[in-house]
Amino acid sequence: MKLVYIKTYGCQMNVHESEKLYAAFELNGIGQADSVENADIIVFNTCCVREGAETRVIGNLGIIKKLKEKKRNLIVVVCGCMSQQPAIAEKLHKRCSFINIITGTYKLSSIPDMVKRVQAGEKFIIDLENDETIAGGINIAKRSDKISTFVNIMYGCNNFCTYCIVPYVKGRERSRKASDIYDEVKLLINEGAKEITLLGQNVNSYNDGENNFLKLLDMLSDIDGDYWIKFMTSHPKDLSDDVIRLIAERPKLAKYIHLPLQSGSDRILALMNRKYDIASYLRKIDLARSLMPTVGLSSDIIVGFPTETEEDYLQTENAVKRVRYNNLFTFIYSKRTGTPAATMDGQIDEEIKKERITRLIEVQAEIASKNASECIGNTYRVLCDGKEGDKYTGKTSEDRVIVFDNGTIGKFIDVKVTSSKNSKLYGKVVD
Ligand code: SAH
Ligand code: SF4
Repeated sequence: MKLVYIKTYGCQMNVHESEKLYAAFELNGIGQADSVENADIIVFNTCCVREGAETRVIGNLGIIKKLKEKKRNLIVVVCGCMSQQPAIAEKLHKRCSFINIITGTYKLSSIPDMVKRVQAGEKFIIDLENDETIAGGINIAKRSDKISTFVNIMYGCNNFCTYCIVPYVKGRERSRKASDIYDEVKLLINEGAKEITLLGQNVNSYNDGENNFLKLLDMLSDIDGDYWIKFMTSHPKDLSDDVIRLIAERPKLAKYIHLPLQSGSDRILALMNRKYDIASYLRKIDLARSLMPTVGLSSDIIVGFPTETEEDYLQTENAVKRVRYNNLFTFIYSKRTGTPAATMDGQIDEEIKKERITRLIEVQAEIASKNASECIGNTYRVLCDGKEGDKYTGKTSEDRVIVFDNGTIGKFIDVKVTSSKNSKLYGKVVD
């Protein structure tokens, strides 16, 4: 039996695409290799959201080149967001002649067929065709984790935030049919899944023609069984008050909202084409907190967007202090060729960007640590998802990480928080 190893870069969406790709290979009689060395086929499922992701792919391709010199029949595939860009695909083909197949984000389900063509003698294949017929794509996945699982609800993005490459490589927004999503979620729950994370670039704009996101959540939070639903990513311009209310009302909707702010300056938000201002963002946060006092909040922030002044940066810091997120994903603005921001005047010096992100990380570390210490004494329902030495680990509905003395992986359990360190909670199982 031939074996494939998939190396995944980037977001949860890509992690899940790779799970689906493993399933597509399996249908073609190709198994999963446990390492690069044992593989007959190596797939790089790439990311291009920031320059760092692309640099890592290039570095790792160098290692594969050496492997291929020893193992001449090895088939090398590059797919995903990075190689969906025609100029990058061309460059990869020219510089790395050992790559057999270059494709993007649309043709993942065809990769096993492309592999067969290479096995039959074709030297290389480049296929970047834009095929947005996702609903008919692969929707079966070989999930590495059967307890905490991902389900795509939509693909692509229509928002064109000026810094972001995603709409160019993932295409326009399209939603899977609610009934298909419902069937998939129900099946996963029957198979023992306890946490289902719905995935999309902007889940709040989900619409299959008949059902919007509110309706979808309504359907998915009313299935028999013990589970909770999380979702990402929400866009502040589209997260409706009704969705916030439904999260508050339904026990099976986790009390967690990831709501990327990106910047605390209205001027920068406008330049980013985000279509909300800080006041409307805070109003949503306040509504969520008033209905769910313990709600877990997290966010993405970009520092050093073109023209960002010290004053703009301080507004971001203030917003972060005002919201008091449990978790913050901070990024240095990275110029992406083809996006409007890449050619804006007023690009910020790397040193200034680094200095700002360092300050923001420090501000957040203090907030997260204080938030965590305020949990001491509370009891949370925890989904036990792993072990750390002789201790067990899990997550709360608010998406807080907790370490505790005793548990069973895959089971919900009540844990009382006894101490905290940084943003992590430590606790004891309650009988
Ligand atoms: N659709 C999601 C995820 C997009 S990518 C959303 O809208 O939030 C995840 C995060 O990467 C973004 O939220 C943003 O904070 C960051 N990001 C995207 N493009 C970037 C760029 N060019 N430079 C730095 N960070 C970027
Ligand atoms: Fe990128 Fe904005 Fe779309 Fe998110 S919403 S994927 S940041 S363009």
